[in-house]
Amino acid sequence: MIVLSAFRYRIYPKLEQEERLNRSLLSLCHLYNDLKAEEMRRYREERKSTPLTRFRRLALDARKQNDELETIYSQVVQNVGDRIDGAFKNFFEGRARFPKWKKPHRHNSLTYPQSGFKLNPTKGLLLSGLGYVRIFVHRPLLGRVRRLTIKREVGEWYAVFITERDASNKSPLEDIPIEKVRGADIGLDKFVTLDDATSTEYPEFLRTYEGKLRHIQHHFNHKVKSSKRRHELGRWLAMLHMHVKRQREDFQNKLVHQVFTANDVLVLEKLNVSGMLRNHTLARAISDASWSRFARRAVLKAESLGKHTVFVDPWGTTQFCRNCLQWVPKDLSDREHSCSNCGEMIPRDVNSALLIKRLGILRSPPSDGGSSLAEQGPLPSLREMVGPSVEAGSRRS
Ligand SMILES: [Zn+2]
Repeated sequence: MIVLSAFRYRIYPKLEQEERLNRSLLSLCHLYNDLKAEEMRRYREERKSTPLTRFRRLALDARKQNDELETIYSQVVQNVGDRIDGAFKNFFEGRARFPKWKKPHRHNSLTYPQSGFKLNPTKGLLLSGLGYVRIFVHRPLLGRVRRLTIKREVGEWYAVFITERDASNKSPLEDIPIEKVRGADIGLDKFVTLDDATSTEYPEFLRTYEGKLRHIQHHFNHKVKSSKRRHELGRWLAMLHMHVKRQREDFQNKLVHQVFTANDVLVLEKLNVSGMLRNHTLARAISDASWSRFARRAVLKAESLGKHTVFVDPWGTTQFCRNCLQWVPKDLSDREHSCSNCGEMIPRDVNSALLIKRLGILRSPPSDGGSSLAEQGPLPSLREMVGPSVEAGSRRS
């Protein structure tokens, strides 16, 4: 199986390089809008949508007539045609809303689709039309590079390489010993509890930051549009968002890495939206949001390491005994699971993690050995194991 991974490095363009990049982004932004206008005109007048090849040709024609575009590597200009084509395809096929007009301050990236760049260990990153740019390669670049995107993020610059790797050497699920399988429970106070009774707290500083973000966002939303104060707050907000995003990524990356270093399979609950709406508290919302990000990260990490992520139905995983499957109702304040049927007494989070693991092991492996979300059939669920008698009274808290 071929997996695509992104490798992101900070780059430090010189002042004149940065000015060039800023100018390039601006003219590519205008080009994007011109191409969008062309598609809309064509659709209105000729009732035809514009094919990708025409978008690309239009982009290259525009390059010949525009001094600024002419200084940009031709494939980068042509890639704007691909972007607008993709945006309309996503719209027509129901995956996205109608493409927006790009605003210059929102147009923050340009892409070298195949060539026009070279990574040199001593001189830096060579970008066609720009020269060598200093780059900080903090981790090795693995795999075959497919494309490069240069990004501007709140005044900082990044190079994102998309590479292709063969990860088909992962072992099939049924060959993995049970001690290499970990069940993980979501928690409000503990971020994650594993079935081996180890747990990790959600960092307090992230909680604080996320609360603060909401607070500033609220202020920002109530300021007069295009006022100076709003502009200042917007900048501040963007910086804070970036900071929190990085801290969170760092925390989650380390956690996922730790889990997959020691284990081969991670079993997680698949959160359902209806359940999230029922538990409508701020703490719950933040926890659910960071949990879905964590789950996504786990899937990506597992793929790149040749390991597995398995999802199960969260129904009942807090309410049943992991040992005898007796219904042991609890509310949120009950921290212990104590079963009147078999006498099992363990922390509730560990009981849930063990149940989740038990469900995960049940799952029959897909025939091709893949473990991505799309490839999984119906999720293993406690419903089938406990029968209908208890269903009416039980609920997930
Ligand atoms: Zn029991």
